[in-house]
Amino acid sequence: MEYFLSLFKFLSYILLKEFFDFTNYYFPFPMSIFSCFWRNLRSEREEEMAARSITYITGSQLLSLKRRPNIAIVDVRDDERSYDGHIAGSLHFASDTFRDKIPSLIQAANGKDTLVFHCALSQVRGPKCARRLAEYLAESKDDVGIRNIMVLERGFNGWEASGRPVCRCTEVFCKGHTEQPQQ
Ligand SMILES: [Zn+2]
Repeated sequence: MEYFLSLFKFLSYILLKEFFDFTNYYFPFPMSIFSCFWRNLRSEREEEMAARSITYITGSQLLSLKRRPNIAIVDVRDDERSYDGHIAGSLHFASDTFRDKIPSLIQAANGKDTLVFHCALSQVRGPKCARRLAEYLAESKDDVGIRNIMVLERGFNGWEASGRPVCRCTEVFCKGHTEQPQQ
């Protein structure tokens, strides 16, 4: 009997000790789980929002929408723009300096609610800059009126290869006045 009693005491001691160790040790743990989870949830939602606001547009869709005054085409190619020509009326914001120039892009696109990004193929630079703008807008408190961020499928090369009009003016912000069908 004595033996069982001491065994019982010993076991309850172990259990209590474990319990208090557990609560002391793990007290901050549920909070950290919660905050990690919350943080992940938040950033995922922000990413999702940023991703959701970027859609793709084909060359023919863009051609039919292009004359609307609410659309700005943003060319983010680097040097190629100067010798390959460009889509008439497009703005030029080279990808290598894009991040720093977002405020001036917003200024240049004032009054436009749809921005269509492209680079040569719209595989890397175009979508990357579009995402950067979406992230910038998600973090910014100001509503600058940009509702749609799009990427032109197949980029400028696809546009040109389909025989769509290419402008060869040398202005940084093309006014689209020298638009001519590709020969
Ligand atoms: Zn031009």
